[in-house]
Amino acid sequence: MQYEAVIGLEVHAELQTKSKMFCGCPVVDATKAEPNTAVCPVCSGMPGVLPVVNKKAVEYALRVALALNCQVARTSIFARKNYFYPDLPKGYQISQYEQPLAENGELIIDTPQGEKTIRIRRVHMEEDTGKLTHVIPEEDEPYSLVDLNRSGVSLLEIVSEPDLSTPDEVTSYASGLRDIVRTLGVNSGDMEKGVIRFEANVSIRPVGYKELGTRVEIKNLNTFRGMERAIRYEFQRQSALLDAGLPVIQETLGWDETLGVTYSQRGKEEAHDYRYFPEPDLPPLLVEKEWIDKIRSQLPELPRARMLRLQQKYALPIDEARMLSADLNILQFFETCAQLDPTLSPKTIANWICGQLFAWFNISDESITTTKIQAQDLVELLNLTQSNRINQTTAKSVLEVMLLTGKHAATIIAEQNLEQVSDQVEIEEMVMRVLVENPDQMSAYLNGKETLENWFFGQIMRLAGGKANPSIIKNILNEKLKKLKSASPSK
Ligand SMILES: [Zn+2]
Repeated sequence: MQYEAVIGLEVHAELQTKSKMFCGCPVVDATKAEPNTAVCPVCSGMPGVLPVVNKKAVEYALRVALALNCQVARTSIFARKNYFYPDLPKGYQISQYEQPLAENGELIIDTPQGEKTIRIRRVHMEEDTGKLTHVIPEEDEPYSLVDLNRSGVSLLEIVSEPDLSTPDEVTSYASGLRDIVRTLGVNSGDMEKGVIRFEANVSIRPVGYKELGTRVEIKNLNTFRGMERAIRYEFQRQSALLDAGLPVIQETLGWDETLGVTYSQRGKEEAHDYRYFPEPDLPPLLVEKEWIDKIRSQLPELPRARMLRLQQKYALPIDEARMLSADLNILQFFETCAQLDPTLSPKTIANWICGQLFAWFNISDESITTTKIQAQDLVELLNLTQSNRINQTTAKSVLEVMLLTGKHAATIIAEQNLEQVSDQVEIEEMVMRVLVENPDQMSAYLNGKETLENWFFGQIMRLAGGKANPSIIKNILNEKLKKLKSASPSK
C-alpha cells in the first residue's frame, strides 16, 4: 500500500517584549540569566494576585496575525487551560480557546511543484510555562529543578491546517514562519534558545483517500533537521503498523535526537481534559479597528515579497534570493554592497555573502550584526579582485583575515605582499622555469599526456606563491606548450 503523510504544525513563538505577558517582570535570556531572578508573585502563581495584559505583546501578536493574512477578532477571550505540572505554578495556563485573537490566515511556501498555500487555522496568545531541569546524580535519587524565569512570558501559538505533506514542506513552512517573526522584530528565531518551538501532528492515509488517519503529536522538535527526521521516522512507523493490520494510537510522542526515534510520552489529551473556561480575572480583549489599521500600515516588507523582489531586481537564482532575504540585516548588507558599486555583478556579491560570509558565521560565534566587516569592506575586496589586483584564491584568504581582524583588504594585501602578479615578463620567466625544471613531465606531455598542462599550471602558481594572475599564466603556458609541441617530432 502506498501512503501519504498529512501534517499540521503548531508553532510556539515567544513574543520578545521587555516585560512578561501579565506582570512587570523582565523577559530574560533563558540561557544566561540566573534561575528564578525574573520572578514576582504574579508569574509564580501566588494567591490573590491579578494579571494585567501587556499591550506591547498584543501589538506584537497583531503584527504576526496580519503578516499571515489572518482575520483579526475585534474581541477575543482569555481562557484558563487547567492542568497540573510543576513548571506551571498556578495550576492553569492563561491561553485563548474559543475566541482566539486571529483565524483563517495563510502562508505561501515554495515546493518543487511550485507555490503552495498553507492555511493557518488560528493564532492565539498565551503565557509560557517555567522550565524544568531533570537531574540524575550518580549516587543519589534523581530530582528536578524549577526555573520560573520563563513563566508568564508572552507566547504566540500559530496552528496550521494539516496542509503539509512532506518533511521538506514542513521545513519550508517552519522556516518561513521563523523568518516572518524575525522580520517583524517580535522574536529572534533562535531555536537553540527555545524562543521558537515546533510540534508536528502527523497522520498517514492511503494515497488518494480523503479521510484522515489517526494522528500523533510529536514534541521536542528543536531543529529543522530533527523535525524532518522525526516526520520521516513517524511516516515509516505508521506505514509499518497499517501494513501489519495494526492501528495507530492517538498519543503524544517525544523525539529522541540521539537515537533517532519517537517515543510515547502520554495518551493524547482532548480539549475537554483541560476544563477550559473564560479567565475570570481578565476582561475580553478588545482591539480597535484603528489600531489594527495602523499596525497593518507599518508592517515591513515581508520575507517572501523581499525574496521575489531580489530575484527580479538583481536577477538572482531563487535559492540565493531566499538566503539573502531571510534576514533583514543580511538583505541590507547585500543591497548596500550592490548600491555602493553598481559595476560589481549582484550575482558575485551574492555568492560571496552566501558562500564565504555564511560559512564564517557557521563556524564562528558571529552574525551579520556582530561581524567586523561592513558592506563597504566587502565591496573594496571585490573591487580589488575585479581589477585583478588579487586573484580569487587570495581574495578568499584576505577575507578570512578581514573577518578575524577587521582590517581593510588593501592593508592586508600590502602587509602580506599579496598583490597579484600580472606582469607578463615575470610570469613568462616562471613558466619557462617550471617547464625546464621538469623534463620528465615535459616529455610525457609531448608524448601525448596533455592533462599535464594543469599540473604545470599548479606548479607555476605554487612558484608564484598563489599570487599570479591565473588567466595570464594559462595563456602564456598554453602558448609555450603549443610551440614546443609543434617543434618536437611527433612520435
Ligand atoms: Zn512576574
